[in-house]
Amino acid sequence: MQMPKITVNLSKLEHNVMYLTSHVRAHDIDVAAVTKVFSAHPEIVKVYEAIPEIKYLADSRLDNFKNYASDSGKERLLLRIPHLSEVDQVVEWTDISLNSEIQTIRDLNQAAQKKNTLHRVILMIDLGDLREGVFEAEEVDAYVKEILTMNHVELAGIGVNLTCYGAIIPDSTILRKLVSYKHHIESTYELTLDIISGGNSSSLYLLDSTEDFMPEEINHLRIGEAYVLGVETAFGLPIPEMHQDVFTLSAEIIEYRDKPSLPIGNVGQDAFGQKPVFVDKGIMKRGILALGRQDVNVQNIQPRDERIEIIGASSDHLIMDFTKAAKDYQLGDEVTFDVSYGSLLDCFTSKYVHKEFITESHIIENSDNQVSASEH
Ligand SMILES: *Cc1c(COP(=O)(O)O)cnc(C)c1O
Repeated sequence: MQMPKITVNLSKLEHNVMYLTSHVRAHDIDVAAVTKVFSAHPEIVKVYEAIPEIKYLADSRLDNFKNYASDSGKERLLLRIPHLSEVDQVVEWTDISLNSEIQTIRDLNQAAQKKNTLHRVILMIDLGDLREGVFEAEEVDAYVKEILTMNHVELAGIGVNLTCYGAIIPDSTILRKLVSYKHHIESTYELTLDIISGGNSSSLYLLDSTEDFMPEEINHLRIGEAYVLGVETAFGLPIPEMHQDVFTLSAEIIEYRDKPSLPIGNVGQDAFGQKPVFVDKGIMKRGILALGRQDVNVQNIQPRDERIEIIGASSDHLIMDFTKAAKDYQLGDEVTFDVSYGSLLDCFTSKYVHKEFITESHIIENSDNQVSASEH
């Protein structure tokens, strides 16, 4: 396999997806599994498609929907509010979309009319995170009223997004505001909203919290990061029943030798316009890996071997201090890294990072039918 590469352990991922889906379903909440962080890679999408309890597959990019199987039986949910200029494709490639602009919804209605289909919309309400969503209560009313007059758009529900921009942590106080919108809309217009979408991976902690709770009217979550990285994202805590090492980034050592830690000559600007500062640590064992900023933001990767340390990166080179681990490494060796959300996204959008998929048969099931997470 060519380097650098991102290796996906499909067995661990499948375990994560099964575990978390049944956990959420046990609270009577439907899941939209979000595929954007791995660019909806078909090998990974298959894992989600095989799980019947997942009702929706969701992505923010229209192109990614083309990787979904047409016969998986999942509803296709567009997460990013549509461009006004792409409503025809939205209606063609997705069943349901998140929306916050009435003009866009009008155009979706026209596009759906042209195709003689029905497109469903979830109206996003901004409860303070200040990314997408209708902000004023009167505006919500005006939107609902108008959507109900449309023949090719159906108001499927309402939703909120939290923690992505304003880093607002979902709690029952915030989510009850969404629920009160539900009650208001349902009683004013005499209808039942199908979907009350209470956020993303940052809402998960409420399912198990002893201090707070998820209002029971919330019946839908959109989950991306928790599935792939095995963490809830309000506090960044690992979920003990899940694997945090589904993904491994590997790169190869292309130079390995003793060099001083202090550059020689006058310090100017580096390739990215920064003036670097160096600490003199004497002679060190320095290794260069063939991995750089064209591949990932190196601030978002962590070497698995704690004895080695990243000291710098340029477009194509990662410089590491191997002093404490000098004996086990040599030219040509592979070095492995944990990825975080940002670097995982980078790995799948960079064409230079090769994708590898493995399965393993040695995952052990214990008596209550949960896979043991003993490997980490
Ligand atoms: C990306 C995204 C999600 C998924 O968020 P995670 O933190 O990965 O669970 C949910 N909703 C919207 C609107 C998104 O853009």
